[in-house]
Amino acid sequence: MRQLHWFQTDLRLADNPALSSAQGADSLLCIYLMPKPRPWCNLTGLGPQRDRFLRESLQELKEQLQALGQDLMVLEGSPELVLPNIVDRFSIDHVTTSFTPGWYEKQAITFLEQKLPATLSVFRGSTLFDAEQFPFEMADLPDTFSPFRRKVEKLNISSPLAAPGTLPPPPSAQFDAIPRAAASPHPGLPLPGGSTGGLRRLDQFLFHTHAIADYKQTRNDLDGLSGSSTLSPWLAGGALSARTVAHAIFRYEREHVANDSTYWLYFELLWREFFHWRAVIDRQTLFRQGGRSGRRLLTTFEPRHFARWCAGDTDYPLVNALMRQLVATGWMSNRGRQIAASCLINELGLDWRYGAAFFEQQLIDYDVGSNYGNWQYIAGVGSDPRGGRQFNLAKQAAQYDPDDTFTLKWEGFRPTQPEHVVDGADWPITDQS
Ligand SMILES: Cc1cc2nc3c(=O)[nH]c(=O)nc-3n(C[C@H](O)[C@H](O)[C@H](O)COP(=O)(O)OP(=O)(O)OC[C@H]3O[C@@H](n4cnc5c(N)ncnc54)[C@H](O)[C@@H]3O)c2cc1C
Repeated sequence: MRQLHWFQTDLRLADNPALSSAQGADSLLCIYLMPKPRPWCNLTGLGPQRDRFLRESLQELKEQLQALGQDLMVLEGSPELVLPNIVDRFSIDHVTTSFTPGWYEKQAITFLEQKLPATLSVFRGSTLFDAEQFPFEMADLPDTFSPFRRKVEKLNISSPLAAPGTLPPPPSAQFDAIPRAAASPHPGLPLPGGSTGGLRRLDQFLFHTHAIADYKQTRNDLDGLSGSSTLSPWLAGGALSARTVAHAIFRYEREHVANDSTYWLYFELLWREFFHWRAVIDRQTLFRQGGRSGRRLLTTFEPRHFARWCAGDTDYPLVNALMRQLVATGWMSNRGRQIAASCLINELGLDWRYGAAFFEQQLIDYDVGSNYGNWQYIAGVGSDPRGGRQFNLAKQAAQYDPDDTFTLKWEGFRPTQPEHVVDGADWPITDQS
C-alpha cells in the first residue's frame, strides 16, 4: 500500500497516531501545505514571527524524518487543489491526516473524502480526550467551561505513543529544502520551533526550575518566560501533544509536589480542550459576529482605530506595549490578550473579528478554537456565562504593571493621536471649523 501523510497541526513524530498507523505501508509520502490564511478583514499572509516559528518547526520535523530515511515535502496551495494532484501523481492508495476543529478545515476534508482517488483517514490526537470518552453526546457539549470541566477532568488521559523507530521509505520524488524565514526569534522571548525546543521548555518549566509549583501566582505576568509555561506555540502547531504535557504534569505531581498551581496548569489545558470541542460544534458560527447566539453587536468600523491598535499606537500605553510585544515576538500572555481584546471591543468599538484576524496572522500559537473562542468570550457572543468582559484598562495597568516596567520595555508610551472626525461628506472636522 502506498500511503501519504498530510501533516497539519501535528508537527511531531511522537504521540502521532496517524503517523504511527503508516508503519505497515510499502511507501510513505509525508507532505505539509503552507497555510494561506483567508484574506479576512483585509489581512493577508502570516506575520513574521508566525512564519518563522512554523518554518523552524517544519525544518526540525524534516530532519527527524530524514533520520528515519524519510523526508518532508512542503508545498504551497490549498488541499482541495494540491492533494488530488499528488495522490494521482504518486498513485497513493491511502491518505492520513490529523483532525483540526476549524470549519474551513472540515470543509476541505469533506471535499477530499468525495474527490480523492484514495481512502482518507482522519486521526484524533491533538486533545487530551477522545469524544467517545465524554459522558455526554457531542451535541450536548456544555455551552460554558465550568460544567464541561466538572464532567471531564477526572477522565483517563491515555499515555502518549512513542515515536516510531522506523517508517516506510518515501517514493522517488524531489524533496526541496525549506526556505528559511526572514525573521529570527526575538531575544526577549526566544521560543524556537520544533519538538526539541518544546520538550526542553516543558522540562525547564516543570523539572528544572519547578516554576510550575507557583504557576497560579505567576501566570498573569505579562512578560512570558518568567510567568506562564509558554508551551502554547508547541501545543498549537502540534510539536508537543497535550497528552505529553498532561502526563508530565502528573509525573511532576507524583515525584515532587501536587498543589493548586500544578492543578491549575492542567486546568488551563482543559480550557484548550473546551475551546477545541466547542469549535467542532459551533462550526461556522465561530466566525460570525454574533456567534452561535446570533446576538447583534453595535460596532463602528473606523480603519484608523484598527490600524493604531495593530501598530500599538492607541491612547492606552499598556495596550500599545502588548501589541508591540505581539508583533515583535509572536506571543502575548493570557492577561495581555484579554486586555488588548477588551480595548479593541469596548474602547475602540470595533468588530471583534478584526482583532481575532490580526491575532491569527501574528500569533505563533494561533489555534482556531482557542483564538476565536476566547475572542467571542470577551465580546459576549461565546461561552462567557457573564455575557462578555470589559476590563478597566487603568486598573489592569495598576495591578499588572504598577511600575510601568512592561510598558516602558515595549515602548507603550506614544504621542497622543489626533482625533480624526469627519462630517457626512468626509471632510475633517477640526476645532477651528
Ligand atoms: C483574545 C484571546 C486570544 C487567544 N488566542 C489563542 C490562540 O490563538 N492560541 C492559543 O493557544 N491560546 C490562545 N489564547 C489563550 C491563552 O491566552 C494562551 O493559550 C496562553 O496565553 C498561552 O500562554 P502559555 O502557554 O504560557 O499559557 P499557560 O498559562 O502556561 O497555560 C498552559 C496551556 O493551557 C492552554 N491555555 C491557557 N489559557 C487558555 C485559554 N484561555 N484558552 C485556551 N487555552 C488556554 C494553552 O494551551 C497553554 O499553553 C487566547 C486568549 C485570548 C484572551
